Amino acid sequence: MNQQSLFPELSEATNQFLSREQHGLLIDGQTLLPAEHKTLEIRNPSTGLVIGHLAAGSEMDVDRAVHAARAAFEGQWSRWTPYERQALLYRAHEIMERNFDELAEIESVDMGAPISRTRAMKASMLKMILFFAAQSSNIVGETLQNGLPGEVTTMSIKAPVGVIGGIIPWNGPLVSQWWLIGAVLASGCTAVLKPAEDASLSVLRVVELLHEIGLPPGVINVVTGLGNVAGAALARHPGVDRIAFTGSTETGRKIIEASAVNIKKLQLELGGKSPDIIFADADLEKAIQGAAMGVFANSGQICFAGTRVFVQKEIVKEFCAGVAEFASSLRVGHSLDPDAQLGPLISNQQLERVMSYVRIGTEEGAELVCGGERLGGSLGDGYFVKPTVFANVNNRMKIAQEEIFGPVLSVIPFETVEEAIALGNQTPYGLGGAVWTQDISKALRVVKGIHTGVMWVNCYGLIDPLVGFGGTKLSGYGAKGGRAHLDTYLYTKAVYINT
Ligand code: ADP
Repeated sequence: MNQQSLFPELSEATNQFLSREQHGLLIDGQTLLPAEHKTLEIRNPSTGLVIGHLAAGSEMDVDRAVHAARAAFEGQWSRWTPYERQALLYRAHEIMERNFDELAEIESVDMGAPISRTRAMKASMLKMILFFAAQSSNIVGETLQNGLPGEVTTMSIKAPVGVIGGIIPWNGPLVSQWWLIGAVLASGCTAVLKPAEDASLSVLRVVELLHEIGLPPGVINVVTGLGNVAGAALARHPGVDRIAFTGSTETGRKIIEASAVNIKKLQLELGGKSPDIIFADADLEKAIQGAAMGVFANSGQICFAGTRVFVQKEIVKEFCAGVAEFASSLRVGHSLDPDAQLGPLISNQQLERVMSYVRIGTEEGAELVCGGERLGGSLGDGYFVKPTVFANVNNRMKIAQEEIFGPVLSVIPFETVEEAIALGNQTPYGLGGAVWTQDISKALRVVKGIHTGVMWVNCYGLIDPLVGFGGTKLSGYGAKGGRAHLDTYLYTKAVYINT
């Protein structure tokens, strides 16, 4: 297929990459065909058209990749100094910066995020690489006092845990893969990455670029394929020491079970149903835009989307009118339309899931204020849904309890701070949350009262690698970012030296 004619608006580099016959596996620094010669179709979510084929990795491929990762872990890579790993990360920063336009285009075509959004990810990605570059030369153990008789010197040293299985979701792999790659390179671990079947291309291209700047073969391998085949094989492989997983709570449970075989260490970022609490004294204009984009950004396909918007009774009417107006003003379009603010959903399956929740919401008695329909016309073949607002939602309704992963915002009225906290916590999830008020003590009561891994005050969705975020309850465990992140790629070894 000649992609050149399909994407005349894209750069030559992107078209060259997209026009490959098949996107193979990356194992031990080489592009390989999958052992069973099976492939998966790659669809452009903006048009529904097949734009290429992806290697469907099998258990055998995962095994090959894990062996390559193990050999690299025990080979030359283990003798790289912290400075050498740091220098590799600086070179990664340089090559990612230089090739970012291509990477953003690949991501937009592959997973549907508007090009304005993927281009704006540049700063976040580069910041993450710098964060991990700094950490690679900052791994410290301790010398410890002891009460042992005689002359015994004691210390703790930090060692890389080994082979990491990185299971990556489809909702923004261009940046999210760096939580893994950065930590692997900084710590001296090695990895097998399993990107999501619906969005693997930016991961393949990033790892290819890393090989161009001297990433040793086998340090980072990529096995594309189905979750229940390649992902499951990785999760149960006895040669994998740790799994970092981002995805649904349901899959997270399967990974926990599979990991029992060799007691893998786990980091799990799972589903969410995050509360966004807006008090009557908030700056309403900012709260409307912030809460709306807290749900609609990436067409609602963000784990910590603030989908339950609790609004204090006296401003509910005004808020609903404002948020509906804002939602209707958002430009939904083809991912390569430079003016599009929102793109399609990832797949037809996701579209059907979101539309089924719109029906459920209406049946449950919530009031559909705007949206709730699939877009037609020139967007009719893509997986587009209008930004949707439901008012008069009760927190017990399905649309307020289950993760929709689409542009669907539910407005739930409340009266007091205590009620807002109680309702906010009535969910099995504990990922994100926000509060909008000009009263700092009220904000802090909510911040302390809500059980989630991250809280925002008068903003939504800000993330910095230095600070990080994480989840609690059914949203998982193990923070991303912050000082704790790299620690989970290391283990502590106590050393007793009889001197
Ligand atoms: P979603 O339902 O939103 O697609 P998933 O949790 O299924 O989220 O997917 C997240 C990642 O987990 C993807 O890379 C997917 O391929 C992978 N995955 C899906 N099922 C399994 C499984 N049983 N074991 C391991 N990984 C899986």
